[in-house]
Amino acid sequence: MDFHKTRYIPMSRRRRIYEGKAKVLYEGPEPGTLIQHFKDDATAFNAKKHEVIEGKGVLNNRISEYVFQNLNDIGVPTHFIRRLNMREQLIREVEIIPLEIVVRNVAAGSLSTRLGIEEGTQLPRSIIEFYYKNDQLGDPMVSEEHITAFAWANPQEIDDIMALAIRVNDFLSGLFLGVGIRLVDFKMECGRLWENDMMRIVVADEISPDSCRLWDIKSNEKLDKDRFRRDLGGLLEAYTEVAKRLGIMNEGEPPRGAGPVLVKG
Ligand code: C5P
Repeated sequence: MDFHKTRYIPMSRRRRIYEGKAKVLYEGPEPGTLIQHFKDDATAFNAKKHEVIEGKGVLNNRISEYVFQNLNDIGVPTHFIRRLNMREQLIREVEIIPLEIVVRNVAAGSLSTRLGIEEGTQLPRSIIEFYYKNDQLGDPMVSEEHITAFAWANPQEIDDIMALAIRVNDFLSGLFLGVGIRLVDFKMECGRLWENDMMRIVVADEISPDSCRLWDIKSNEKLDKDRFRRDLGGLLEAYTEVAKRLGIMNEGEPPRGAGPVLVKG
């Protein structure tokens, strides 16, 4: 299958597979592929807080593309194939494991609240947590016992997920440190990718300032979705700063751009 000669299907004729809070999945041009479309919607506290921030989807598409392409390049398997346009990327269809995998390096957010550890405290080592993906229940934290008892994943899969999480954390920490940003924590999702009778666990969904805590090394300024959650303002500017530091937005390039423009080459 040549993924580089993808037919472009107009948005109106595409079959919508799934609509989430910040993304839509459409049927892809080839069997086993999907198109992941990034919306401008920002939500927090299980969608109780909602706003449309024009340009956020474009930035997350670009930042997530950059992260996933780099992960592919260093041999961390992901669902990502290539970016199609300003808001969309071509991905492999996977069976999503209903877990949010959170990796923490520095205390913040729900860990600080739950355990009474001051935000910004360096953790003795990186900590991996699992949350059950269920909006109605507010994504409760679960243990490996729950995961295996309810067959969300088996022990081998949990091992694979944890190994992936550590590799992604190591890679991302270095990537961001190199551009003056501290990776405080992040969330990732995994899926089962079937190739004939073989199955492997790959990194799926997105990795962007929506799903990471990113603090400027010097000023500790927040460059992530906490700007929205905590009403700090300047979300678009913060995401643009992350993109610029990673070298993926040209100076002066506006983050807007809704049109389905095919990326050449
Ligand atoms: O809120 P909490 O401290 O548990 O979040 C940990 C990390 O996981 C943060 O980077 C946050 O952005 C991310 N997260 C997410 N989606 C969720 C919950 C948390 O991306 N539903």
